[in-house]
Amino acid sequence: MKFRRLREKMVSTQIEARGIHDQRVLEAMRKVPRHLFVGEALQDQAYGDFPLPIGEGQTISQPYIVAEMTQALELAENDRVLEIGTGSGYQTAILAELVYRVYTIERVRQLFIEVRQMLDRLNYYNVVAKCSDGTLGWPEEAPFEAIIVTAGAPKVPEVLVEQLKLGGRLVIPVGNRFSQTLLKIVKHEDGIHQVDLGGCRFVKLVGDHGWKEA
Ligand code: SAH
Repeated sequence: MKFRRLREKMVSTQIEARGIHDQRVLEAMRKVPRHLFVGEALQDQAYGDFPLPIGEGQTISQPYIVAEMTQALELAENDRVLEIGTGSGYQTAILAELVYRVYTIERVRQLFIEVRQMLDRLNYYNVVAKCSDGTLGWPEEAPFEAIIVTAGAPKVPEVLVEQLKLGGRLVIPVGNRFSQTLLKIVKHEDGIHQVDLGGCRFVKLVGDHGWKEA
């Protein structure tokens, strides 16, 4: 009950009040129990307007940024979505509420194991997870209607654009190690269309087409 109330308040004051209008996104954020995606000691802070540590030097993103990125993906019920940087699995669960299937990749094994358990416990059976370098995408399952990267990249990995369907959307933070710009890239027959969604700060995307060291 307590967490449900905190969640309602989070959505109205942090998400709706800042202009997120996609009703399906708002509904998913009212539903997913964010406090279960952080350690027990941090549960009371889970609905605050900030990111939180999740171990292994990584963080669960601020609620608003999750909402903003999810809305930017323009998801439809039958979409197949690729997520790179599973982390806590909270964003994964939001996506799983909205689409047919979510493919998610995490490079840190310990996080991958914990998330799999939590997603199973919450019955998110439409999530396929693997532990590897997400900067390579998931070629066996491509192309995707949408791809979301939740770690900061030095540049847009071309291979991810290749794994988008025509009309597909890629949302990715790009910049240096300290600050990035959130980019939305839409793939068209004659090239890509890019929109700048504003500044943000993510942990590093580490891999073949990302930063070379953690
Ligand atoms: N959406 C997540 C964000 C977690 S932080 C959440 O809100 O919980 C970003 C995650 O990306 C970290 O867990 C980090 O380990 C992971 N990551 C970094 N580089 C990666 C790569 N190349 N492939 C897959 N995951 C990566």
